Amino acid sequence: MSSITFDDRFMRELPADARTDRRPRQVQGACYSEVEPSAVADPSLVACWPEVAELVGFDEAFVRSERFGQVMAGNALLEGMKPYAACYGGHQFGNWAGQLGDGRAITLGEAIHPETGARHELQLKGAGPTPYSRSADGRAVLRSSIREFLCSEAMFHLGVPTTRALSLVLTGEQVMRDKLYDGRPAPEPGAVVCRVAPSFLRFGSFEIHAARGDLGILRGLVEHTIRHYFPHLLARPDEAISEAHIIAWLREVGERTAEMVVGWMRVGFVHGVMNTDNMSILGLTIDYGPYGWLDNFDPGFTPNTTDRGQRRYRYGYQPDVAYWNLYKLTNAVAALVDDAAPLQEALDHFPTVYSELQLDMMAQKLGLTRLAGAEDEVLVEGLMAMLGRVETDYTLFYRGLAEVRCEGVEADAVDAEALRAPLMAAYYAPESHREEDWEAIDAWLRAYVARVQNDGTSDVARREAMNAVNPMYILRNYLAQEAIDQAEQGDFSKVHELMAVLRHPYQEQAGRGAFGAKRPEWARDRFGCSMLSCSS
Ligand code: AMP
Ligand code: MG
Ligand code: MG
Repeated sequence: MSSITFDDRFMRELPADARTDRRPRQVQGACYSEVEPSAVADPSLVACWPEVAELVGFDEAFVRSERFGQVMAGNALLEGMKPYAACYGGHQFGNWAGQLGDGRAITLGEAIHPETGARHELQLKGAGPTPYSRSADGRAVLRSSIREFLCSEAMFHLGVPTTRALSLVLTGEQVMRDKLYDGRPAPEPGAVVCRVAPSFLRFGSFEIHAARGDLGILRGLVEHTIRHYFPHLLARPDEAISEAHIIAWLREVGERTAEMVVGWMRVGFVHGVMNTDNMSILGLTIDYGPYGWLDNFDPGFTPNTTDRGQRRYRYGYQPDVAYWNLYKLTNAVAALVDDAAPLQEALDHFPTVYSELQLDMMAQKLGLTRLAGAEDEVLVEGLMAMLGRVETDYTLFYRGLAEVRCEGVEADAVDAEALRAPLMAAYYAPESHREEDWEAIDAWLRAYVARVQNDGTSDVARREAMNAVNPMYILRNYLAQEAIDQAEQGDFSKVHELMAVLRHPYQEQAGRGAFGAKRPEWARDRFGCSMLSCSS
C-alpha cells in the first residue's frame, strides 16, 4: 500500500477545534481548512476501477479488504492522511459568486506511489459537511455519484484529460433531494465517490484571494502551483519565481485548457456547468455534474436544466466560455504582474492554440492528413450544415463515414444509395428526410470522397485512423440513466457492464451492439437530459 502524505505547503486555516469544526464560515487568509469526513451508517463498496487503484499505488489485497471500503466512505483514515477541504471562489454563469469551496468534497491526502513516486490526491465527494457547505448537507446521491464514477473513466479512456475515479461506495443512508424528473422531493440512496488527480486546484482557487485583495496568499498559491505542478517551467527546482514564470504558466494553462475542450468537442461532451470554480488549473475535466453527450448533433444542446434560458454552457459555446474563464483567471493573477502586455499575450495564446488544435482534430475525425485552404473550409462548413440539417447521431456519423468507399470510385458517379448506406444507422428519422436533404447529403459525401482521393490515403488506413479518434461507445445519457435506475433497485450489473464497455470506446465489442446504438426513441424526452441540474 502506498504511503499517504500531506505536506503543509501552503496556507491552512487554523480554527481552535480544527478537523471537527464544520460550521459554515468565510475562511480568510487560508487556502484550505482541515476537516474530517463524517462517518456514514453502513458503507458498502459497490464498484472500483482497478487501473486507478494501481495508478495511486494501492495493491489488490488492500482494495479487496473491508478497510478499503471504510476509508473510501470516510469512516476510517489511513496513517498519514490529513483531510482537508479547499477554499475557492468562482464566477457562476458569468457572475462573481464569492467564496464557494469544497462544500462536499474532502481531500484525504496525497498518495505517493511506492514504485513510481507519482503523487495523486484522493478526494471523497459526498463525505459530509465542511466549512464551505453553506446551507447544504455535504452529501451526494447515488445517481450523481454513478454519473461521476462512470464518466470520469469514460473520458480517460477516450483520451480526454480528466480527473479519475477510484471507488463508488453506498453510504447506507438516505439523502433528500428534489428528484426533478418526478417533480417531488424524495429520499434517495447516498453515495461517496473517491476521485483522483494530481491536484484539484481550480481557477476559482486563485480568484478568491485576488477578490479579497489578499495578494500575499495569492502569490504563495501561484508559486506553490508552479513549483509543484509545472516544475518544467523552472530552470532549477529552487529558482525564484518571476513574472516571466507566471506568464509562461498562464500560457500553459491556456494550452491545456484548449486541449481539454478540443477533446470535449471531438467526442461530443457537454460539461454543462463551466463556472470558473469548475475549471481545473491542470486542464482536467472536473466536476461531473449536469454534463451530457450529444446524441444528434446540435451545437445549442445543454443538458443543464438551470441553463435552459441563457444556454451559456451549450456544446458549441464551450471554447468561448473557456476563453472567458481564462480571462477571469488572468485578471486574478494580474495583480502579481507589473506589465499588462505579456498578460494579454498569454491570454490571447488560447484562441490561437485552440484554432490549431481544432483544425487538427477535425482533420483526424475526417480521416484527412490536414485541413487547409478555402476549399477545406467549405468542406467543414458544409459538414456542420449537413449534420444540423437532419437529426444525425454525432458519434455514429463518423463511424459510418469511415466505411464510405473512396478508393477506386468516381466521386460523381457513385450510386446515391451505395454512397449513403454506411451512414443510415446515424439518422434518427431517415423516412422524414426531404429530397433536398438527401441531395445536400449526397453532394457533401461526393465532395468528401473527392477530397479523400486527393489525399491518397487507402480506405483501410483511413478507417483505422478514423476509428482511433471517433469513438463507438460513449456514456449516452440514457445508458447512464438505465444503470442508475437499476442501481437504485440494488442491481449494479449495468454499472459494471458499462465499466467494461467504456474501457475500450474505440473498439467494436461483440454482443455489445446496444451500447453503441443511437438513442432509442423512448429515451428522447425523459433521457434527452431534461432532468439534470447542479449539485445533486
Ligand atoms: P457545483 O455546482 O457542483 O460545482 O457546486 C457548487 C458549489 O456548491 C461548490 O462549492 C460545492 O462544493 C457546493 N455544493 C454542491 N452540492 C453540495 C452539497 N450537497 N453540500 C454542500 N455543498 C455543496
Ligand atoms: Mg463544482
Ligand atoms: Mg458539482
